[in-house]
Amino acid sequence: MQFEFIAGNLALDFANTVHDYGASVSEDDLKSGSELVRWARQAGLLSERESQELYRQAGANLGPAATGFQRSLRLRRLVYEVFSDLSHGGRPRPGALAALNSYFKQAMAAVSIQRVRDRYELGWEENAFGLDRVLWAVTRSAMDLLTSERLGRIRQCAGDTCTWLFLDTSRNGMRRWCDMEACGNRAKVRRFRQRVKTEARHARPRLERGDARRRARET
Ligand SMILES: [Zn+2]
Repeated sequence: MQFEFIAGNLALDFANTVHDYGASVSEDDLKSGSELVRWARQAGLLSERESQELYRQAGANLGPAATGFQRSLRLRRLVYEVFSDLSHGGRPRPGALAALNSYFKQAMAAVSIQRVRDRYELGWEENAFGLDRVLWAVTRSAMDLLTSERLGRIRQCAGDTCTWLFLDTSRNGMRRWCDMEACGNRAKVRRFRQRVKTEARHARPRLERGDARRRARET
């Protein structure tokens, strides 16, 4: 499966693996730990070698009930809640921020400063492997965004059933759709259909009046 990365931020893209939060049956791209590994590979969090290694090591622990996978789903829900609230100008509930902080602390415990050629970078400890690394990368991305200047640029798609979040990088900051081709055009088609329906409703009485006049002439 080809996952979609449209948000301009890793944590938001992770949240977007559910297309429609709040629906009775949500469209969810991640149904198991294996799918999460595939997502992480496509997101560039794992190299091909690392993802193969993970499949080999984790094996049976990549099913839908795997602890690491379930923890990832909780983090995903949390990221969605926090950034959805922020995108509407609200504040995340205190419990959500506390939960995000606990993910963050776990992630930081696995990070160290490493020398890469002639500079220093934050990198994962050697033993930090498995689904947790994916979890931590998402957590760090969420924290980076939360503490950045781009906070006011978080948006939620205006589509009726779409709950995707994204960073609005447009110059005027007026982007409304996750994707104009998908949600923007769907909304346009819907507005057009509605207009046609409304016009038809308004047109009907005139038609009926005409018919009545015609019938009156005919009798
Ligand atoms: Zn959308």
